[in-house]
Formats: sequence, structure tokens, C-alpha cells
Amino acid sequence: MVRSEGVADVVVVGSGAAGLTAALTAADVGLSVVVVEKADLIGGTTAWSGGMPWVPLNKHQRELGIDDSRAEVMQYLDGLLEGREPSRELVDAFVDHAAEALDFVESRTPLRMSTLSAYPDYYGDRPGAKLAGRSVEPEPREYRELLGDWFELVRESPLMPHVTREEMTSGADLVELSRQRGEKGVRTMGGALVSALLAGVLERGVQVRTATAARRLLTEGDRVVGLVAEHAGQELRMHARLGVVLACGGFEGDPDLVRAYLGVADALALSPAGNVGDGLRMGLVLGAAVGNMSSAVTRPCVWDGVSMLDGQPLPMMSNLRHDPACIIVNRHGRRFVNEGISYMDMGKALKAFDPRQAEYPDAGAVYMVFDQSARDRTRLGDLMPGAPTPHWVTQAETIEDLARAIGMPCDVLASEVARYNGFADSGEDSDFGRGTVWFEGLSAGGPTPQRNMSRIERAPFYATRLRYGIFGTIGGLLTNGHGQVLRPKGELIEGLYAVGNVAAGALGQTYPGGGSSLGPNITFGYLAGQRLASDALAPGAMAADIEIGE
Ligand SMILES: Cc1cc2nc3c(=O)[nH]c(=O)nc-3n(C[C@H](O)[C@H](O)[C@H](O)COP(=O)(O)OP(=O)(O)OC[C@H]3O[C@@H](n4cnc5c(N)ncnc54)[C@H](O)[C@@H]3O)c2cc1C
Repeated sequence: MVRSEGVADVVVVGSGAAGLTAALTAADVGLSVVVVEKADLIGGTTAWSGGMPWVPLNKHQRELGIDDSRAEVMQYLDGLLEGREPSRELVDAFVDHAAEALDFVESRTPLRMSTLSAYPDYYGDRPGAKLAGRSVEPEPREYRELLGDWFELVRESPLMPHVTREEMTSGADLVELSRQRGEKGVRTMGGALVSALLAGVLERGVQVRTATAARRLLTEGDRVVGLVAEHAGQELRMHARLGVVLACGGFEGDPDLVRAYLGVADALALSPAGNVGDGLRMGLVLGAAVGNMSSAVTRPCVWDGVSMLDGQPLPMMSNLRHDPACIIVNRHGRRFVNEGISYMDMGKALKAFDPRQAEYPDAGAVYMVFDQSARDRTRLGDLMPGAPTPHWVTQAETIEDLARAIGMPCDVLASEVARYNGFADSGEDSDFGRGTVWFEGLSAGGPTPQRNMSRIERAPFYATRLRYGIFGTIGGLLTNGHGQVLRPKGELIEGLYAVGNVAAGALGQTYPGGGSSLGPNITFGYLAGQRLASDALAPGAMAADIEIGE
């Protein structure tokens, strides 16, 4: 049943970084904007995230005296992309406008960013890379008073504490700091980013409607003129005079779409439930082109097999694979990769096909195998050193017993561990180059085999499944540099925009530095908002008052 009709200049679908930035930019020139958010809470994956965007040429980098140039950024990106980007226009638009977009957000909201003192690009030894400055993060700030009743409507991350990345390496008592900040309503990371954007849009009169899911787009001829949303079981028609901005995230929460596009059968989403490809489907129905469909920002993770949130498994992030006394083995008990590579690259490794055996040996039953020294040093998800071994970690007194317990060939696993121990002794991993990949020494100024490898020899020994986790898929509707959705032959679908993870990611399959998802998402949210604003300011254009009922 259709409950009511209404009209605004712009209707935005989704309240993550991309959607809120688009809303902020459009509302800043006085356009009437409605944001519809399917969930009861605001912020999507962004609110759960580290809140760190990768923004080449940003002003904070300059303030720190770090030189950078467009030529270096392009040299770095081109070396990684190898021409596989979904569209050159998107790469150019990102590089040319990322800093401007961040400036805009900081000047229109309470958000203040700072650079991390030692957070290099992820391939810091590549030409054009920078050792600091392109990744920035929100400064902590009190939002409870500022947002009033809206404060509690921003998602709280179960995965991230109320601290900054910078503080994570400072030696501070993070548990206590996080507790104090939580009490005071101080937010950091993605919570700070969303809270600041929300403050900015509310100040500009944007109507933010939670528990309101976009279901289908409305068209007149070939033009998108609004959408039908559902709230409390009733349909609501919303007309958008200038355009609809799809910003409703990726499809990592839909196992069928993940299987179809990524070719992964047992992935776990690390984002909140709800990013199930609604925007992708709405665009496909109208004949949109797509790009980058097999890409996702991956984050290998662990799961205890029981924890669920909103009907979805709740995995844990873990850096244990970087511990020098940890190896990763595939279903045959064999190492197959340098364990310390970036999370994005590990996702690619877990999908590899072996053409000789015609199988995917590194998918499914992949295990981290480690010893007591690693357990004593490194936390594993929420399992702290010294805590009793839980049911989801297998423990044994010998490597052979461990292999039997996890169903691996004993002789193979024992020989892999012995071989790795030999590499640790000699300081050279001739199989996978442990200790030679830049990411392994990200916060230590570069990798060294001595720091990155040690013998796996102290009983008891442990194993736990390493799973293919997804922060967010980054394949979707193909757009131009203004976020306008394209048809396969390149014409526009008038009135339809797609920004953030619902769109084809500008950076293709690469993840050049911390924040390579939020950087483009903020940038294209801004560029879409700008295009809508310039359409509205064109001679003869008339603004619509919001007439969408509460
Ligand atoms: C733990 C974690 C840490 C991360 N850290 C970082 C980081 O530091 N830097 C970085 O760059 N990336 C990071 N990422 C990835 C990044 O957070 C996401 O890729 C990004 O936030 C996606 O932004 P978005 O605006 O496209 O979508 P989202 O933030 O996911 O927002 C989409 C919103 O759309 C809503 N929605 C879906 N369907 C509908 C519908 N039909 N109608 C209405 N609303 C709908 C969803 O409920 C959601 O609220 C991290 C991810 C995780 C999980």
C-alpha cells in the first residue's frame, strides 16, 4: 500500500560515508535532501570502520612538510593498476578531487583529520609511494552533546575501540582510554567520521530517515525521477527532482552474489548486516553497466563459529598471521603464500586456482598454525595472550597431533613446519620470501626476515581456521567521474547516481594504502553532490521544498 507521496531535490539511499557526503554537498547549496537508511541505525560499514581515508595531496600531509605531487601519485597508482582500472576517468577524478573533497567535509562539519606519523603506503618501496601522509584519520571528539538524540542512532562498532590508530602504537592503556571515551561520548575512527557528517547534514536541514529501505526506482521515460521506499511495512513514493543517489553499500552480505561475482563460496562479511546488493539490483534493472565486479576489500579473519549479530556471523579481525611464529597452510597442509602480505592481497591469494590440479587448494580449510610463543605475544581476535584456549582454536602437544586434529596429512604439515624453521634459522624464506614484502614491516620502516620469522617450536602448538572476510565489495554500477550511472554503451541514466561501494571502485583491484575505500567513497559522494548542485544552479532551475511526510 502506498502511504504517502513527497518530493525533494535529491534522495540519497544509504547513510555511510558516500551517502552522507553526497547529502552534505548537495544540501550545502540549499538543495532539499532526504537520506533513506534501511537500518535502524545510521552509518553502515563506515561507522564500524577505522574511519581512515587515503587522500593523496591532502593538506595535512603538506602541513607536516611531506612533499607529494600528482605525478608521484599517478606513478604509484599506475604501477599497481597495470591498466586494469574500470575507467581512467574515475582514477583521474579521484586523484584530482580527493583532497578538495576532504577539505570540503572538514570545512562544513566538526570533522578534523590528522595524518598518522608512521603510516606508509602499503607498497612503500614502489616508485611514487610515500612513507606517510596520504592516510589520515579523524581526531577524537565529543559528539553526544553535539548530536543530542541523534547520538545513539549512530552505529557503534563491535570491532573497533574508541581509540585512534596513532594511539594503537603509542603504548597507551587502550582499554581504559576506550572506556573513558565511551562514557564521555567521545568518538574516534568511523564513529567520528559518521557523527561529524551527520552533524553537518542535520545542520543543513537534510531529512535522515532510518528504518526506510529503498525498494525500486521510479522512472519517467528513461529518466530516474524518484524511488519507492518501505517503512514499517508500508510503501512510500519519493520523487527526486534532480536525482537519486544510490549509496547503499556493496553486496558482501549476500552469499549468492558473493559466490556469483567473487567466486568465493564461504566468505564472511565484516560489515553490518544489510549490504546485500539492493543498489546494484536497482541499477541492473534499469540497464546500468557494471565494473570491477570480482573485487572486494578483503580482510582475512577468524570466527568462533557461534557469534552472530543481526542474523549474520560476527567474525573477528586478527593480526596473528603476521606473528613470526605463525604460518598459513592450505587444505593439503602446505604453505602457499607469504603470511605477512596485505589483507587485500591475502584475499587474492585465498582465491587462487591451481591449473595443474584443477582445484582451489587455498580456499576452505585454510589454517593458521602457530606455537606457544606466538600465543604469548599476539592476540587472536578477542583471545588475549594467557587466556584459556577456546573451542575454536585447536591445541596439541606435537605438530603431528595437531595435524591429525585438524584433518591434515601429518607428514606434510610436520615437514612444512620443519622447512619454515630452517628458513627462520637461515634468515631466508626461499619459498615465499617472508620478511621481504614491504607490508610486513609497515610500522617498522620496512620488512626484515629476522623480525618476521622465528621458529615454530614451543609446545603446545595451535591451529585455527583463517577465513575469507570482506570489509566491502567494490564492484558495482559503472559511473562517470561525477558519479552518474552509465549504460553499457556509455550514455547516462539521467537522474541516477551511484557512489561508494555500490559503484565500480575507482582503484580497481588495488588497495594502495590505508583508507583506499573511504578515500574514493568520500570523493565520489562529494563529486555527485557537486554535480547535483551545479544542475540545480543552472539557469531556469527551480528548487523543490521537502514535502516528504515524516
Ligand atoms: C571493521 C572495518 C574497518 C574498516 N576500516 C576502513 C578504513 O579505515 N578505511 C577504509 O577506507 N575502509 C575501511 N573499511 C571499509 C569501509 O568502511 C567501507 O568500504 C565503506 O565504509 C563503505 O562505505 P559506503 O558509504 O559505500 O557504504 P556503507 O558505509 O556500508 O553504507 C551503506 C548504507 O546503505 C544502507 N542500505 C543498504 N541497502 C539499503 C536500501 N535498500 N535502502 C536504504 N539503505 C540501504 C546500509 O544499511 C548502510 O547503512 C573498513 C571496514 C570494516 C568492516
